Amino acid sequence: MKKLLFVLFLGTVSLQAQVKALVGGTLIDGYGSTPIQNSVIIIEGDKIKTVGTIDTVKIPAGAEVISTEGMSVLPGLWDMHVHTMINGHADYAYWDKTYLPLLENTIMPSSAEQLLMAGVTSARDLGAPLEESISVRDRINKGEIPGATLYVSGPFIQKKPYPGTEAFRWGINGVDDARKKVKRLADAGVDCIKLIDQDQMTEAELQAVVDEAHKHNLKVVAHGHRPMEIISGLKAGADCFEHTGLSSAPRYPDNVMDAIRSRTAQMNLGPLFWCPTVEGLYNYEYVRDNGEHLDNDSWHRGLHDTIVTDIKNSFIHKDRLPYFQLTPARKPTLETKIKQLIDAGVVLMIGTDSGIPMKFHSQSTWNELDVWVNEFGIDPMYAIRGATYWPSLWMGVADEVGTVTEGKFADIIAVKGDVLRHISLLQNVDIVIKHGKQYK
Ligand SMILES: [Zn+2]
Repeated sequence: MKKLLFVLFLGTVSLQAQVKALVGGTLIDGYGSTPIQNSVIIIEGDKIKTVGTIDTVKIPAGAEVISTEGMSVLPGLWDMHVHTMINGHADYAYWDKTYLPLLENTIMPSSAEQLLMAGVTSARDLGAPLEESISVRDRINKGEIPGATLYVSGPFIQKKPYPGTEAFRWGINGVDDARKKVKRLADAGVDCIKLIDQDQMTEAELQAVVDEAHKHNLKVVAHGHRPMEIISGLKAGADCFEHTGLSSAPRYPDNVMDAIRSRTAQMNLGPLFWCPTVEGLYNYEYVRDNGEHLDNDSWHRGLHDTIVTDIKNSFIHKDRLPYFQLTPARKPTLETKIKQLIDAGVVLMIGTDSGIPMKFHSQSTWNELDVWVNEFGIDPMYAIRGATYWPSLWMGVADEVGTVTEGKFADIIAVKGDVLRHISLLQNVDIVIKHGKQYK
């Protein structure tokens, strides 16, 4: 009996310790309507129990009260295009050769943790070796290591891997091979399929990739760099496109826009999603000519000093990087292309390509939001929805995350000030909670 009482007592204590109350801030819940002032969010364990205001919600006795007074409170952000296997190093060939053995236990976990500390509680990781991707994702989900919840594609599916990239780029040759490779990814448990260079595949190969993915309930994320990548990807039924693409061409030509518009016109297919990934390109010249933020050590988290030094040394000459050779010519085309997509009825999502040269997981996502809102004049609520609600819907987990709603996982961030007025405040998130656990 004594023992039983002791157990009951312990049970009560731990239950009480699990209750958190976020009190006072302005809640932007992710659905897009008017923010809720003086909000109260009750978190029980890993889930959101109640959402309301200080007038409507009674704070349970014993709850840990976290003041969000003066803050914007939002769903944890999503970044729908990250590369956890890279971290800003400017020489990919060298990086792949040197760091492949360190991906699973150092590089990818550090990227995932950097995302989390930046307020990104969920991310779609598009292109990395298969076993490493699954292992890192699962260890995060089990709570063994800290990090954003990852939705992984594993290796890119493409016509032919570039030399030296076979560990994370799978070539396909023929319809049977295409089906076999996609099935292997599905059986291993990936969350989506990343397709690139699909304009180099035969129509039948491309269709086989998409159909096999859909057969396994996996969506297909396709590169949209070249006109025929977009047109053939749309025809085959790809579910999301990446990048604004088309290099320095000033705008999407009519045939591409016609294909996009005839897709967005079909309501039964659901929205056409697109991650324009503009900030890396848009901010290149600024980073090249200023770049003080490169000295911000937020991107060192989880990396040995030798790796940090190695990455830093790769961009000593920021103006000479081949990766950005044509970027100044592409920059003026980005706004036009993004507006063409919006006008055609595409749903844009926040994705950054974080990990590309000089672009770190700790600093990319807020920059994408900032460019959309402050450079292109996109409504901040639209941008926030593109980083919360829409991504969760695309991933098929909208009933679990993506908005601050009763019953969903408590993935919540808070930042001092009004993010709808000053979106760049998101560069310094004050509170990060993922699945009820406070990380920052
Ligand atoms: Zn990418």
